[in-house]
Amino acid sequence: SMFLQRIDLNGFKSFANATTLEFLPPTHASRGITAIVGPNGSGKSCVVDAIRWVLGEQSMKLLRGKKSEDVIFAGTPKRPRLGVAEVTLILNNEDGGVPIDFREVAIGRRVYRSGESEYILNGTQVRREDIQILLAKARVGQRTYSIIGQGMVDEFLLATPAQRKGFFDEAAGIRPAELKRDAALRKLERAAENLHQGEVLLQELTPRLRSLSRQVQRLARKEEVERELQTLLEQYYGARWHELAAAMDASRAKHGTADQQRVALQRSVDGVQQQLAELEKQEKQDDAFLPLQREYESFMEQRQHLRERVLSLTHELQRRAAASREVLPASALTTDLDAALREFAPILEALGTLDSLTHLPTIIEKLHQLHERIASVRRRASPDAPAAPPELMEAERDLKRIEGATKETQQRMQALHEQERQQKGALFDLQRQYRAQQLTLNQASGRANDARIELARLEQRREDLLAEMTRAFGAQRDPATLAKPDAALPTDARLRIERLQRDIAAIGSLDEETMREHEETKQRVEFLEGQTEDLRKSMHALERVIDELAIDIDRAFHAAFQTINEHFERYFRILFGGGQAKLTLLREVTQEEPDEDVPEGDAIPDVPPADRPRTAHDTRRTTVSGIDIAATPPGKRIKSISMLSGGERALTAIALLCAIISSSKSPFVVLDEVDAALDESNSVRFAEILKDLSRETQFLVVTHNRYSMERAAAIYGITMAGDGASKLLSMKLEEAKEMAA
Ligand code: ATP
Repeated sequence: SMFLQRIDLNGFKSFANATTLEFLPPTHASRGITAIVGPNGSGKSCVVDAIRWVLGEQSMKLLRGKKSEDVIFAGTPKRPRLGVAEVTLILNNEDGGVPIDFREVAIGRRVYRSGESEYILNGTQVRREDIQILLAKARVGQRTYSIIGQGMVDEFLLATPAQRKGFFDEAAGIRPAELKRDAALRKLERAAENLHQGEVLLQELTPRLRSLSRQVQRLARKEEVERELQTLLEQYYGARWHELAAAMDASRAKHGTADQQRVALQRSVDGVQQQLAELEKQEKQDDAFLPLQREYESFMEQRQHLRERVLSLTHELQRRAAASREVLPASALTTDLDAALREFAPILEALGTLDSLTHLPTIIEKLHQLHERIASVRRRASPDAPAAPPELMEAERDLKRIEGATKETQQRMQALHEQERQQKGALFDLQRQYRAQQLTLNQASGRANDARIELARLEQRREDLLAEMTRAFGAQRDPATLAKPDAALPTDARLRIERLQRDIAAIGSLDEETMREHEETKQRVEFLEGQTEDLRKSMHALERVIDELAIDIDRAFHAAFQTINEHFERYFRILFGGGQAKLTLLREVTQEEPDEDVPEGDAIPDVPPADRPRTAHDTRRTTVSGIDIAATPPGKRIKSISMLSGGERALTAIALLCAIISSSKSPFVVLDEVDAALDESNSVRFAEILKDLSRETQFLVVTHNRYSMERAAAIYGITMAGDGASKLLSMKLEEAKEMAA
């Protein structure tokens, strides 16, 4: 496996000069023992410190200093101090014994006076942790048994059982698992911390989010109400608009019909009126009655004349009759004449009245009879009786003519009269018709007018409705986009609209800021919830890993413990030439922190298991809290190591140390004057054991013991020159023995 090939020191403690210690490569039989010899105070332990330091030691106490820069060469009266200390350890991994990618591992550490410190792995600056992991893989324990400093052996025995367990942990090779577990535990702690922070934040944010959500929900309700209102408004105004449009159409149609009617009637009335005018004009024009009247009057006059002629004729006849009577003797004839004469009186009387005109024909007839009678009397009296007077004949003729003409005129007048009467009737009819039509026209005009007024009113209503719609919709709304509702509008639509408008006003408005805050808070809460959930999951996973590791660690520990125990017993018997030694595990069931009363040991400080956080898993089972040692040298009865003599104690400690080394598979171990307290025979036995162990482990041994030196394949001598800086010499065994003596 891996072996220690070289150490380069430069400015580290007493090594002011750049110094290199080379180690021999392992052989088939041995991985080699290298001895470092030299006088007190020459700087041998500084080499051990350098190895401890480069492997990452942080305890200044272990490094025999106070501050980190104390490892830098401090200067002497003859040499100035240095500004930097550097140590590089070269491990050879050519056989690939350690599962890493490097053939050669150069671990370097550097510190400046400023206190600034660096770790370098194969030339690259790395974290201390990286080196720790690598070393754990290589099974190099930097603090416990791998580097055993002066006085540490005794302290190892006097250490508390819990501190002792730390050695075993490292020897059992469970450090990588422990490091892993510790890393997991640290992660777990961080996760728990983050989880706590997340939960605290969530606790703060959740009520805020709830309040914001309520506000936003209210807004969502507002939107819903607004949508409902919008739908209702569309229905409502759609219905009203279409209703109005229909009413307007009807009104327009009504107006159209009424107007058509009015126009038609007007035309008809105009026609009638024209007819009337014509009739009236006609009536005025033909006064045909007047000439007839005149004609008639002239006939009347002629009759008047005729009466006068008849009157004179009558007088004539009367005179003739009277004359005849005079001449005639009284006889029958005179009697006739007398009778005739008497008949004149009523005729004359009749002619004297205006009425006589109508009796004129009778009178003329009477006159004829009178004349006849007179004539007959004369004829009887005398044959030459006078003939009838011509005037009578003429009067008779005229009368006939006049009467005929009068009759005709009268007839014509009659006819004219009839015609006039008929015309009047037609006019009246026409006038009645005119009045009736005028009435209908007026009615039609009224209807047309009403319709026009109604239309105007509807137009006004449309304007009002449009304005109302603009108010209700909050913007101008094209009524053409409003669908005609197919169902009847609910009767309470108006009420519902008002109620929704009131609701919206009551909800109020939500500002942008709140919306944004809600969105942000929601995202933040969701993020935190996701994060805490992830954390819980990863914590769960970590706990599982920790539990599994704990089981592995436990198993490995017990296996190692078994081996160490066996070796311990064997080495104890070898070193003591018999006797009995035994390790026992101390277990505890409780979860309380152990080692509260452990004295502050210098040799084995801060053993990890004692102060690492415990898992829930740990608390559920018994845990190994420490290791107790029972040792009985041959021929003795005592068991407690505290009752052993100093030498016995050192031997027991060495037996245990060797047992641990033998089972640790550590590639190399540094022992700083571990053999100092041994007497000669024990030194021989120890040297034998060392040789035996060197088959598995490379040793760097700081010693004054010549038996140990004899087992070494290489020996370095360290001296301190006059300038106070350590100096390294490669030595032969004899020279070394001389130096030691
Ligand atoms: P011993 O055999 O007595 O144990 P040693 O060879 O182990 O002695 P160390 O203890 O290694 O001797 O050497 C200590 C020497 O190194 C001391 O002389 C000390 O003054 C010197 N030294 C320690 N630190 C520094 C430092 N920072 N600068 C200079 N010299 C130092």
